[in-house]
Amino acid sequence: MHTYYVYLRRVKPISELPRPSRRETSAPYPRKVKHTRSLEQRMKAAVFGRPGIENVGIVDVDAPSPGPHEVLIRVVRAGVNPVDRLTVTGARNPTPMPHIPGAEFAGIVEEVGAHVDGISRGDIVIDYPRVFCGRCDMCISGREMLCRTGGVLGTVSNGGFAELAVVPYVSVVKVDASLGWDLLASLPVSALTAYHGLRSSGLRAGQTVAVVGASGNTGMFAVQLAHIMGARVVAISRKPRGWLMDMGADAVVEPGSAMRAVAELTGGAMADVVVDPLGSGTASWSLGLLGSGGKLISYGVLTGQEVQVDMRTIYSREISIVGTTGGTRAELVELIAIASSRGLDARVWRKYGLGDVRRALEDLSSGERDGRVMLDVGRR
Ligand SMILES: [Zn+2]
Repeated sequence: MHTYYVYLRRVKPISELPRPSRRETSAPYPRKVKHTRSLEQRMKAAVFGRPGIENVGIVDVDAPSPGPHEVLIRVVRAGVNPVDRLTVTGARNPTPMPHIPGAEFAGIVEEVGAHVDGISRGDIVIDYPRVFCGRCDMCISGREMLCRTGGVLGTVSNGGFAELAVVPYVSVVKVDASLGWDLLASLPVSALTAYHGLRSSGLRAGQTVAVVGASGNTGMFAVQLAHIMGARVVAISRKPRGWLMDMGADAVVEPGSAMRAVAELTGGAMADVVVDPLGSGTASWSLGLLGSGGKLISYGVLTGQEVQVDMRTIYSREISIVGTTGGTRAELVELIAIASSRGLDARVWRKYGLGDVRRALEDLSSGERDGRVMLDVGRR
C-alpha cells in the first residue's frame, strides 16, 4: 500500500500566499552602468556554426550596433528553454548562421537607436520573444506570435546568450528591477507561455486545472498563475516536489495517482482544464483527466509529436484541444503587473556562466532537474 497523495491541502486564501524571495533585489544591477562603446567593440557570445549542442562555443565576436529602431541590451540573466535546444540542434532552422541562441533574457539598456522612444540607457528590460512585422492580419489583431512573417527571437534572429543583444524596440519591455533577475528572465518564455495557455482556456475562478510536467519551466508558472486566477490546481510531476505547494498547488501527485486525485478533488467531475506541454507521452492520458466540456491546452511536445486520439471521447463529451504558442505583448504586460502585485517565483535549479552554456542546454533534459536552468551572463 502507498499513499497516493504526496501533498494535499485546502485552497489557501490569497492573503496567505507566500511572497516570492526577494533575496536578489537589494543590489540587482550595478549602480553605475558603463556606456562607453569605444571600449566594447567585441563581446563574448555563445555561437554555433553547425547544428548540435557540441558545436556551441564561446566566441569573441563584434558587438552588435542598434539600428534606428533597435535597442542594445547588456544581458544579465537568460532562461534556458526547450526552444533554445531546438534552435541549437537545428530543428528550427536558425538564421542567421553562425547563430547566437537565447529566446528569453533580461538586462540593462546600453544604447538605443535614433528613432526609439520611451526606452533609455540604464533601463531594466526584458525581451518579448518574437520578431513580428506589426502590419499583417495576425499582428493587427494583437497576436504577434502568429505573425505571418515573424518567428521566435533567438531563432529567426540572434538571441540573448551573449553579453550584448540587439532587439527591435517594439520587442523590448521595461520592467521593475525589484522582481529579481531570475524571475525577470523567466517572464518572456516560461511564464508567458503558461499564462497565454491558461487565458486561451477561458479558465474561470473555482474551476479545476491539472498541470502535467508541473515542475518544468512552464509548469511551475502554470501552477502559480492558475492559482492566482482562482482555480484549484493539481500539480502532476514524475518526482512530486514540495515546493509546488508553496507555489499554490492544492495537490502535488505523481502521474499514477493523478486520476484519483483529480476525481476526489472534483467529486468525480474531473478537470476543467489540463495543461500538457509533453505531447505524445501523455496527451491521450491527459484527455482522460478532463471532465465534460474540458479543455486540453497543448504548447509543447517534449516527449514526441504524434498522438492517437479516440475522437468519440472528444465529441461525445465536448472536449476541446487548444493549441497555444508563446503569448501576446499585451499578455506579457499583464504578466509583469501580476508579478508585481501578486508575486511570482522562479524556482532555479542550476545557474551557469555563459562559458557553461553547453552544460546548461544538456541539463534541460536531466532526470534530476528540480527547477529552472539559468545563464548568469554577467558572470565572468
Ligand atoms: Zn505580422
